Amino acid sequence: FAGYTPRTRNPNFKQLTAADVGKFGEILPKNRMLVSKELGGSEDTSDMDGYNTDWIGIYKGKAQVVLFPINAQEVSQILKYCNSEKIAVVPQGGNTGLVGASVPVFDEVIISLQKMNKVRSLDQDSGALVCDAGCVLEVLDNYLADHGLTMPLDLGAKGSCHIGGNVSTNAGGIRYLKYGSLHGSVLGLEAVLPDGTIVNNLSTLRKDSTGYDIKQLFIGAEGTIGIVTGVSILAARRPSSVNASILGANSYEDVRHLFKQAKSELSEILSAFEFWDSESMTLTLNYNKFSPPFETLYPFYVLIETSGSNTEHDEKSNLAQNGILAQDKSQFRKLWDYREKMPQAIFATGYAYKFDLSIPISKLHDIVGYLKQKLTSEGLFLDKDGKIDPSLPIISVNGFGHIGDGNLHLNVLMKNEDEKIIESFKYQVYDWIKSMNGSISAEHGLGIIEAENLHYSKTPEVIDIMKKIKHLFDPNGIMNPYKFFPPT
Ligand code: FAD
Repeated sequence: FAGYTPRTRNPNFKQLTAADVGKFGEILPKNRMLVSKELGGSEDTSDMDGYNTDWIGIYKGKAQVVLFPINAQEVSQILKYCNSEKIAVVPQGGNTGLVGASVPVFDEVIISLQKMNKVRSLDQDSGALVCDAGCVLEVLDNYLADHGLTMPLDLGAKGSCHIGGNVSTNAGGIRYLKYGSLHGSVLGLEAVLPDGTIVNNLSTLRKDSTGYDIKQLFIGAEGTIGIVTGVSILAARRPSSVNASILGANSYEDVRHLFKQAKSELSEILSAFEFWDSESMTLTLNYNKFSPPFETLYPFYVLIETSGSNTEHDEKSNLAQNGILAQDKSQFRKLWDYREKMPQAIFATGYAYKFDLSIPISKLHDIVGYLKQKLTSEGLFLDKDGKIDPSLPIISVNGFGHIGDGNLHLNVLMKNEDEKIIESFKYQVYDWIKSMNGSISAEHGLGIIEAENLHYSKTPEVIDIMKKIKHLFDPNGIMNPYKFFPPT
């Protein structure tokens, strides 16, 4: 259980037949289709588990067909056929999404962008990179490195996630502080609509004030209005001096103070400011078998990254002198590993109910303390001395995130999934977020997990406009159904 999971398949969607598979076979060669034995192919359904199961391992669909187009024309023919036959589809990138959006709920056809992975062009004057949507983020960054450039986003899943997936989830990540949102750095998109229309909006211009900015609708649309097949994005100059430092902090107030100090001392070279609490640290140390950065376990940790062009100048900050400053590339990686390997540690230690919240920075960690207190007073977490009690159902309540962006990943870690316990706290968290004018999904999207909670962040009028946009693009509702919108 995590969020609303529909129990009934929409009967308006066609059940696939061998004849449909035959039609797909007219568009794609056999070696770019996975088809189950039931539909005349050679795959055991278990062979398709990797495509049917999400990264967390909670959501599992039953797609019997996975298609691998290599260009927008093939995507167009597939969608046109599916739309005319009312066959529901799920676009899939690297399948690293964390809200259950990238896998089918029932038997939707998976359209994987995996084989659309070519760089199309790079304008070295402007830094405009144009590429297929299925390019892996890290591969693009390595490509740009050869040209002295870098991607304007970075995240823990960079080795698997696709740029098309990043665009479709409006991914944030650890460089958001420096380079801002994809709504700013994406210059253009190529997308295929459900009726097969190929929308070429692959501009490489930085400035363009000619009417509605259609590409913005696809950023964060989670595959609900079309399939992104090409992306034009503004790469940034690759910093020649990058460094990281970890500091321990005794209170959240100290974390805030450090953030203010970092902004004033480091100014434009500050590229990331991440934080986590001692509970998150304990989980990552135990699971990844890392040795702690300091002898003492601090209540909070801060990771500061700088990206500049003058090593000597960049290392002069007083901030770095109070913590551990990476001395070389391998130590730089090690410091980042504390933070980047945190999600794996949390998901592997128990059943994690996670929130991805946007909150004013001053209040960011308050909700963690509040939840801890509430769950302890209800006899679900911590003993009377405030220590972990292994006999209780909750193992950890922790928070980490991108403090510079006001983004907290709050996790309630249980020994086992317990619907009753989740129900007892989740709406209180959402009410609290609403009272702060925060967002219930800062960077992961809505998917299945947050669809029913959309009203905590968006007014009825906004939700109504969203529904009208969906209907305009996808009147048959075949694109990534059962997700994104509150169930009706
Ligand atoms: P998928 O998971 O395959 O798909 C995500 C959604 O986009 C689905 O709705 C899918 O249908 C749709 N989609 C995918 N490709 C297309 C396309 N070409 N056209 C239309 N729709 C498409 N996220 C952050 O924002 N910040 C982080 O710091 C961060 N860290 C992470 C760390 C780890 C270890 C992991 C596992 C995940 C992390 N994520 C983070 C979440 C995830 O990596 C991002 O959401 C990422 O952008 C998803 O990309 P993907 O290619 O894997 O997309």
